[in-house]
Amino acid sequence: MNTKPIVGLEVHVELNTKSKMFCGCPAFHFDKEPNTQTCPVCLGLPGALPVPNQQAIEDTIKIGLALNCTINEHTHFDRKQYFYPDLAKGYQISQYDQPICKNGYVTLDSGKKIRILRVHLEEDTGKLQHTTLDGKKVTLVDFNRSGVPLVEIVSEPDMNSAEEAKEYLKKVHAIVKSTGVADADMEKGQMRLEPTVNVEIDGSHYTPLVEIKNINSFNYASLAIDYEVKRQVEDFVQTGVEKQGGNKTTRGYDSEKKITFPQRTKEEAKDYRYFPEPDIPPLILSQELVGKIKNTLPQMPDQKIKSLTDMGVDQKYAKILYNDQSVVDILFLAKDKEGIDVDKLANLIANKKIKVENDVWKQYQDLTKVGNTNEEELKVVIQKVVSENPKVVSDYNKGNTNVLGFFVGQVMRETSGQANAQVVSKLLLDILSRSQ
Ligand code: ZN
Ligand code: MN
Repeated sequence: MNTKPIVGLEVHVELNTKSKMFCGCPAFHFDKEPNTQTCPVCLGLPGALPVPNQQAIEDTIKIGLALNCTINEHTHFDRKQYFYPDLAKGYQISQYDQPICKNGYVTLDSGKKIRILRVHLEEDTGKLQHTTLDGKKVTLVDFNRSGVPLVEIVSEPDMNSAEEAKEYLKKVHAIVKSTGVADADMEKGQMRLEPTVNVEIDGSHYTPLVEIKNINSFNYASLAIDYEVKRQVEDFVQTGVEKQGGNKTTRGYDSEKKITFPQRTKEEAKDYRYFPEPDIPPLILSQELVGKIKNTLPQMPDQKIKSLTDMGVDQKYAKILYNDQSVVDILFLAKDKEGIDVDKLANLIANKKIKVENDVWKQYQDLTKVGNTNEEELKVVIQKVVSENPKVVSDYNKGNTNVLGFFVGQVMRETSGQANAQVVSKLLLDILSRSQ
């Protein structure tokens, strides 16, 4: 049986604007006292009118441009109806047929392009907290998060393994962060991942789609996908049930048990009864505005990594260091300094052997001095001196320990006095005892 996983991803990212999407309440809600950042608009009280946050719209354009999208000149908001207690209005203001951005892509290291269908802007929901109060099981609701600007990035189902999905997610995360419009801190729930998974079997059979909701780490996303692929193949072997309209389901991921579990049958677009939001007029995003935002885009992570590998830094270190501008500046300076191997310097910084707050050049010199940290290099020098002086070695072997001084002197000469004499003596005795 030939199986090919098919994975698409929805990524939700909270923007770091000062205020919420449709009102003036503060958008940053992490760790705040529940229900202290609300108003009639984000509580969904009757008659309250939403006013779109211009900064959030511009930020979404920025993310779209960074993801190689086209920006729709004509865009509008839509109502997505669903009843859920953390969404007081009974609907979410989102976007349906005219998202702000469409048709982008992210390129994986293999060169494979993962297409992005759309990037749209919506509002986040409140948060439910299931707890026990006075011995009773209750659910509390906190509306601080309700109405926070939320960007949704939807990919095509172009990934064929958990690893590809993970790489895509890491790239999206790095790109979004580099734009500066979102912090995307996964631990704070500022970026949430939803893979949709099914499996192609023997080239012509497809297992039913499963959407895995609200995952908050790249590793969990990858584990959940692997688990789901295995589960779906087993399920197909047992039941023969294939994908068809209406049999998409939603599952959660239990990171302790490392399994996915069923949640509910997935609504389809028609169930949401989308219609254009009547309280907000359509928007026109002029080329001028888009051009202006394009000019503010910083260099993207892959470009930064490439500029480091171009000057000789190993990709492994480039990927660790590219985002720290002070380190990048140091590496660029080092490139033109004599006697400095940029890759070695990158290695030492990446491995935290050099502290960039202090004198980097001195630390580099100290660390790379023969014999100080690099015993392997020193051993080669000692070995050379020993094998060039067979007569002195035989004197030593006959018991003439005075010749040790001669060897140490030779090694110091070979290393221009850079070696640590104590280390030299130790290594020398070691090598001589093995030559006996
Ligand atoms: Zn509000
Ligand atoms: Mn959404």
